[in-house]
Amino acid sequence: MTVPLPGGTLPGGRAAAVLDAAATAGATVVLSGHVQPDADALGSTLALAEGLRRRGARVLATIPDPFTLPASLAWLPGAEDLVPSAAVPAAPEVFVSLDAASPGRLGELAALLDGAGTSVVVDHHASNPGFGDVRVVDPTAPATAVLVADLLDALGVALDQRLATCLYAGLTADTGSFRFGSTRPDTHLLAARLLATGIDHAAIGQRLFDTAPFGWLGLLSVAAGRAVLEADVGAGLVWTWSSTAEATEHGLPGEQLEALVDVVRSTREADVACVLKGQDDGSWVVSLRSRGATDVARVATALGGGGHRAAAGFTSHLDLHETVETVRAQLSG
Ligand code: MN
Repeated sequence: MTVPLPGGTLPGGRAAAVLDAAATAGATVVLSGHVQPDADALGSTLALAEGLRRRGARVLATIPDPFTLPASLAWLPGAEDLVPSAAVPAAPEVFVSLDAASPGRLGELAALLDGAGTSVVVDHHASNPGFGDVRVVDPTAPATAVLVADLLDALGVALDQRLATCLYAGLTADTGSFRFGSTRPDTHLLAARLLATGIDHAAIGQRLFDTAPFGWLGLLSVAAGRAVLEADVGAGLVWTWSSTAEATEHGLPGEQLEALVDVVRSTREADVACVLKGQDDGSWVVSLRSRGATDVARVATALGGGGHRAAAGFTSHLDLHETVETVRAQLSG
């Protein structure tokens, strides 16, 4: 949470001061979002990296292993300049973590939280326990991109189409295209500033949300067809599963599974939607969504993960039915 420091200075001001000093000195700044970055993690990372580069910092933007991006994100400006985590120094002057709810979400890059001269954590997850030397953690922010926009303003970096494209991607993704309850009046004011740079917001939205290979329709029909409604669990639970292997059968990359929960969560009879995604190593990556009555961040945190009140997740090493049972137990408890 955003706690005022003595003198009423917000942590964002302190972070901006750290970044301003690093840029002015031409220091090395390493930035990373969470593992398997989404549009907010990657857009925030690329926007702040470019802003700091313009201010004179020696910038290395990276992501935790695996060093791959889905097609829906690989086009973001600056993504072509990402370097593998093995190529960043272990002790840069500054390390910036973006959109990571916990050190574990940084994978092998979590070591930089201690290795860097100063670590700066920029995040908006309610489950963030507070880590890093300097924190800009605001659970009321609808996206980490909003916090990055504030930092760029504080650094005196003018928004142009390149920066605005990255920020808009994060903003529109994490707000569900401005439909989620986290959207505030100033969210739209920021969107207006970004659109005013001349970005093609329709193309951004189409690339992020409305583009998939034909095989997606086949996978969707199979996964949706096996959905189970358990209206008596908590405020109602609907769940289904798929796997990276099943995605492959339909000619799809594993990240296409992320879109399943957006279909399943429309079920009126269930407050909680759960999609279990089988991984190649036998584990299950579980996505949870709430229609409003249930705090799924609490559920996910209790099961070793984290997230937001309405959108959270965790990883299970139990089998499929044991994993569903742990979710049932949390919802019924
Ligand atoms: Mn986010």
